[in-house]
Amino acid sequence: MKDIHCEDTITAIATPLGKGAIGIVKISGSKSLEILKKLFRTKSGKKKESFEDRRMTYGLIVDRNGNPIDEVLVVYMKKPKTFTGEDVVEIHSHGGIVVVKKILQEVMACGARLAEPGEFTMRAFLNGKIDLLQAEAINDIVNAVSESSLRVAFNQLEGGLSKKIKEIKDEIVELKALLETAVDFPEEDVEIMEEGEVKERLEKTIKKISQLLATFNTGKILKEGIKVVIAGRPNVGKSSLLNAMLQEDRAIVTEIPGTTRDVIEETAVISGVPIRLIDTAGLRKSKDKVEEIGIERTKKSIKEADVVLFVVDGHEGFTDEDERVLKLVEGKPVLLVINKKDKGLKFFCKDAKRFADCVEVSAKTGEGLEELAEKIAKIVMFKPIEEVSLEPVLTNERQKKLLEEAKESLENALASIESGFSSPEIVCLDVDKALESLGKMVGEVTTEDILGIIFSKFCIGK
Ligand code: GDP
Repeated sequence: MKDIHCEDTITAIATPLGKGAIGIVKISGSKSLEILKKLFRTKSGKKKESFEDRRMTYGLIVDRNGNPIDEVLVVYMKKPKTFTGEDVVEIHSHGGIVVVKKILQEVMACGARLAEPGEFTMRAFLNGKIDLLQAEAINDIVNAVSESSLRVAFNQLEGGLSKKIKEIKDEIVELKALLETAVDFPEEDVEIMEEGEVKERLEKTIKKISQLLATFNTGKILKEGIKVVIAGRPNVGKSSLLNAMLQEDRAIVTEIPGTTRDVIEETAVISGVPIRLIDTAGLRKSKDKVEEIGIERTKKSIKEADVVLFVVDGHEGFTDEDERVLKLVEGKPVLLVINKKDKGLKFFCKDAKRFADCVEVSAKTGEGLEELAEKIAKIVMFKPIEEVSLEPVLTNERQKKLLEEAKESLENALASIESGFSSPEIVCLDVDKALESLGKMVGEVTTEDILGIIFSKFCIGK
C-alpha cells in the first residue's frame, strides 16, 4: 500500500471489465477537476471551464491530441461530501473494454495514478468518512453471496456494529473514570473504587462482549456458507441431490473456483441457510467411471467440511458398501440422508439410531430438502436471521480476535479486583488494554500494515 497520505490523485475503472451498457472511470484527489477539464469537450467540441457540483454533464471525452474517444456523461463531486472525502470525478462511457481502458490511460496521462486495490475506500477511512468496520462492510457487500449476508453487511455499513462497539467503549470509559477517582485520591476514603460497582459494571460489559462474540458463528456462515460435502457410494443419488439443492435455491447460484482445479464450490441458499456445496470431481464422475479416482480428493474435501451429507439409497437399504464409505467420514459431523423416498423406502431414519441426525428425502421430487437444510443449520448451530432482526453481527476473524482480546483484558481486571490485592492503577492498565483493542476494531488505532492487509482484499476501483 503506497501513498498512505493521499496526496496524489488516483484513478481506476470502477465497473467490471467486459462488455456492458456503461463503464465508469473514477478519479479521486485534488487534480480530479483539472483532469476532467483537460479531457472533456461539449458535443460541439468546446472546452468547459466549470462543472456544477453533483450534476451529470453530457459531452465527449477526448485524448491528449483532442481526438474524441467516446460520448460520455461526467459528474464532478466536490469535496468533502464525497465517498473518499476528496474531489471525485466519474466518467461514464459506453461499456467496452477498449473504450474504458483508453479513457483510463488518458486520465493517467493527465497526472492521475492507478489506484491500488481498495484505495478509494482506504481514503474514505483515512479521511474520516467511515470507520474500519464500515470499510470492511463495503467489501462484504461486494462479495455477498446471499441476501442475508448482504443484509448483515449493509447493517454494518450503516454503522450497526460500530455503534455497538462505541456503546461498549463508552461503558469502559465510564468505568475508567471511576477507577481514576480512586487513583487520584488514594488517601481519601474512596473505597477501593467502589469495588462492588466496578465489579458489577465489568461483569455487565463482559457479558455484552460475550453476546457479541457469539454472533461470529452466524456472521461467518452468512459470509462463507456452511461447507457441505456430499458423500456416498455410486448411484445413491449424490449428483441428483446436489442438483436438486441448487435448483431449490431460486435466488442465486454462484460458482466459486475452489482451491484445486478439480474442486468446484457452489453456493445455494435453502430456507435462509447459505450452503456451500463442495463438489469434488470424484463425487461428480459419471456412474460408469470408477469412483476410486476421486477418493483422495473426496477425503480432502471431507476434511474441510463443516457437515458431511452421507447419502444412502433408502430403496435398496443400507449395504456393506455404504458401511465402507461411512468409514471415510468418521470423525466428522455426519447427517445421514436417506434418498429415493419417492420409490418407497426399505431403510428409514428410525432404523438408523447410531446416526446423530437423519433425514429422508427424494432428490427426484425435492421432498425433504427444506428439512435437510434445517438439519444442516442445526448441526453447525446456525440460526437463519429473521428479516426484522438486524442485530450487529461479527463478520471476520480480525473483529473476533480484537473483541476476544478486549474481553480477556476486562476479565483480567475483574480477576485483579476479586483477588483483593490489586491497586486501581493495575486494574486501569487492563481496562486501557481493552479500550485499545476496541479502538483497533473501529480503526482509531491502526498501522499501515494492518490497513494494507485489510484493503488489499478489495478489488481495484473500490
Ligand atoms: P450418484 O452416483 O450418487 O451421483 O447418483 P446419481 O445422482 O447419478 O443417481 C443415480 C441414479 O439414481 C440416477 O438414475 C438417478 O436418476 C436416480 N435417482 C437419484 N435420486 C433419486 C431419487 O430421489 N428418486 C429416484 N426415483 N431416483 C433417483
